[in-house]
Amino acid sequence: MIKNNTLIININNDNYNKIIKKTRRYIKLCDKKNLKFKYETDLNNEELKDIEKAINIKDKKERIEFIYDKICLDLDKKINTNYCEFENDICIKYRYKNSNHKNGCCECKGRGKCKYLIGSTCTMKTCMACKLFTCKTLRKKGIKHNINDYIIGKYFFTRKQKDILRYSFWTPKEIVIDRLLKNEYVKP
Ligand code: SF4
Ligand code: SF4
Repeated sequence: MIKNNTLIININNDNYNKIIKKTRRYIKLCDKKNLKFKYETDLNNEELKDIEKAINIKDKKERIEFIYDKICLDLDKKINTNYCEFENDICIKYRYKNSNHKNGCCECKGRGKCKYLIGSTCTMKTCMACKLFTCKTLRKKGIKHNINDYIIGKYFFTRKQKDILRYSFWTPKEIVIDRLLKNEYVKP
């Protein structure tokens, strides 16, 4: 239903999956007709609030930044649980190998040490690809991340943009956002 220049979509537990799958359609429609977007719902659901907010940000750069920051915030929370099991700067992968290699995958043989790693700490902190990455050791333990795990990641980015996010390692947010904008998905 469109009312007062706003696309209003009813969502509840029964139709949740069906409605969520239409997210891309709502983005396109709201962008094309310059509509606001609102869910009519009793659900107190953070993901719905994020979709609403993202669609209502009409500036493309601001929208992408909002989504990028949201996903990174969640990934940071997970990373802060120390699932890499760092002890004295040696992660689980290298402990399994009885190696004393420090700094996990922020430092490796061919590539050397990442320039942003200073004193065993990442000084950049904004690279989504680094946050999304988990090595084979972690994946075997079931620890893995995917942009599609996030509804705002799944429906607001194209396949190409998802690849940019996945593979832009050691790259500050500003540069990644620029790359995303040049391959933008949400075309009015
Ligand atoms: S992702 Fe794997 S290699 Fe990289 S720090 Fe974590 S456990 Fe170590
Ligand atoms: S940018 Fe990535 S590779 Fe470099 S220190 Fe930070 S997390 Fe490690």
